[in-house]
Amino acid sequence: MRAIMIIGDGMADRPLRELDYKTPLEAAKPEHMDKLASNGISGLLDPIAPGIAPGSDAANLSILGYDPWKIKGRGPFEAAGAGIELEARDVAFRCNLATVNENFIMIDERAGRIREEAGELAKALQNVQLRENSDIKVVFKQTLGFKGALVLRGEGISSNVSATMPNAGDRVCSVKPLDASSEAERTANALNEFVKISHELLKDHPVNRRRIAKEKPPANVVIPWSGAEPLIIQPFYEKYKLKAACIAGASLIKGIAKLSGMSVVDVSGATGDIDTDTMAKANAALRAIESNDLVIVHVEGPDEASHDGNIRGKISIIKKIDSMVGAIIDHVDLAETVVVLLADHVTSLRFRKHTGDPVPIAIASTEVVQDDVRQYNERATCRGGLGRIQGKHVMPLILNLLSIPEKIGG
Ligand code: ZN
Ligand code: ZN
Repeated sequence: MRAIMIIGDGMADRPLRELDYKTPLEAAKPEHMDKLASNGISGLLDPIAPGIAPGSDAANLSILGYDPWKIKGRGPFEAAGAGIELEARDVAFRCNLATVNENFIMIDERAGRIREEAGELAKALQNVQLRENSDIKVVFKQTLGFKGALVLRGEGISSNVSATMPNAGDRVCSVKPLDASSEAERTANALNEFVKISHELLKDHPVNRRRIAKEKPPANVVIPWSGAEPLIIQPFYEKYKLKAACIAGASLIKGIAKLSGMSVVDVSGATGDIDTDTMAKANAALRAIESNDLVIVHVEGPDEASHDGNIRGKISIIKKIDSMVGAIIDHVDLAETVVVLLADHVTSLRFRKHTGDPVPIAIASTEVVQDDVRQYNERATCRGGLGRIQGKHVMPLILNLLSIPEKIGG
């Protein structure tokens, strides 16, 4: 027995006025997801606990059975997913290429969602040397579009600084130490210096001159946020005795997989956005399940569309995930392979952020007693046989179906 877990990032939502108070999953009418739910047992899942709105780091770690409350920042996962080898005393940050004006006031946190051109800009940011904090080494890596990771390496640094993503209208370069230590002060200074240097290197870059000429926002600064020292997590294999592989475009998810010792399958065409090649992911999943006990297939696109308030985009990526689900369930034997479908959290199109609502989960297998749910969405799965469960229950449910239940007592 083995399992494939399909995660649509931020795929669940609330009812929307624009959709006659249907959710995007209801509006998309995903036939293969509905078939998956019809062939198994469904329910509602609180990724952490009722009413708690998780970041993707907390939600996905919770679903994999790790304690989400131990996470101090997503930076180390982003950096590991970007291919940076972390050292124990590093402080790692997620980064955005963003747009600021000449007074360092934030204009666009994602630089107009810059895509291909971001790679060219990133070349200018290789080998950045800090001048005032020259003993702190800087490693920057751009990942997908406006996203990237930054690692600070050196003696006497600390993650206890106020590195958050400034909102439009806020001043950047305003990272402050959060305690009285010299480490926190040095780190805050180093971050502000890095942001200033990134602006010097990017503001007149030919890519940005072209963007300005086309009236697109220039990606003229790098903003580090959500920093932390690397989190030590128990290797997935040691925890569950399952050989696991992960297929994802988003660096955060790749990083969670790497730091938990899963193998990461690179799929060309996995963009971490709504244009991702979901069929390539389905094929990669079907190949990977031949040599693994568990394959996780993560699709970031619904979350991106939701943060943009893009209703059509969200419905269209749900339909693409539906085709991927179809390609997977049509090629596996549910007597041998358990297929789990869930979202890691709700990302509300209306509010453009994560909320604390539960998400639908469905588990297809011949080993479960089928319930009467015939659709995969927030409303239909309310009536499912799983009832209402939490993120930490997902792995025990899977282990039980794989005939390796956690046992208690004699
Ligand atoms: Zn997420
Ligand atoms: Zn999100």
